[in-house]
Amino acid sequence: MTEQERLLAFRAPSDLLRERTVLITGASRGIGRAISIAAANCGAEVILLARNVRELESLAEEIEANDAPAPCIVPMNLEGAQVSDYEEVARLIGERYTKLDGLILNAGMLGEMTPLASYDPVTWARVFQVNVHSQFLLTQALLPHLHNAEAGSIIFTSSGVGRQARAYWGAYAASKFANEGMMQVLADELEANSSIRVNSLNPGRLRTAMRAAAYPAEDPLTLAEPHEIANAYLFLLGLDSRDVRGCALNAQAPVK
Ligand code: NDP
Repeated sequence: MTEQERLLAFRAPSDLLRERTVLITGASRGIGRAISIAAANCGAEVILLARNVRELESLAEEIEANDAPAPCIVPMNLEGAQVSDYEEVARLIGERYTKLDGLILNAGMLGEMTPLASYDPVTWARVFQVNVHSQFLLTQALLPHLHNAEAGSIIFTSSGVGRQARAYWGAYAASKFANEGMMQVLADELEANSSIRVNSLNPGRLRTAMRAAAYPAEDPLTLAEPHEIANAYLFLLGLDSRDVRGCALNAQAPVK
């Protein structure tokens, strides 16, 4: 079986992530929220990062109501954060946990759907700050904690247009290609001397606010909901995928 086939066939046992700690960026809504709930329901202590504190608190309450381990909330704006802010996140995690088993780099912004010729340069820089630079800075700050885990897992979030770009997807498509590049660089660097796995996952079309912004005329009811692809993330977080490294994977099977 290929890594892709193993991922699609995977069904997570309820104790998959017991005694494991996972940080999810963009946890407040959409895909990040669904993965956070799924990981916590499999026993993980989840660290929830996003800007909207109210949404993070309601998510934490929902997770605790399911009798899952109490989450940790990290309110943070990835657009304005400085190196010292990432160091502070690493310090807080070091105080509360002995290791970090999973890092899901899921937060993202769409930017404009506009031809490059008229793309707003400020928006271009904002998209790269959130989708690329913040992911580098967070990963760099948290690598020491990931090294403390038995087999840490870093998951970059890709997109169809991060593998085959299309007109008008501008900074978003370019930033997702950058994510794939960062994933390959880090996976190769860690291949020989670390148990940390680094992969990218394209969630595929899902019913979220970002998808609605990109396709305003689409009927959302034709799309799967984020919780339906949670098993793909759980596969990459758990030890069943400890040999999967440097792969660009898809959370959904291609539509036939
Ligand atoms: P949403 O827009 O629904 O959610 C985006 C998340 O990112 C929110 O939790 C938001 O939280 C967080 N976020 C955005 N900007 C910042 C910021 N500056 N600082 C901190 N957090 C931020 O998107 P989706 O759930 O649809 O997408 C999640 C990921 O999946 C993205 O990387 C996206 O590119 C990718 N993807 C999605 C697809 C889809 O069909 N939905 C398809 C392919 C890829 P808050 O506002 O609270 O800060």
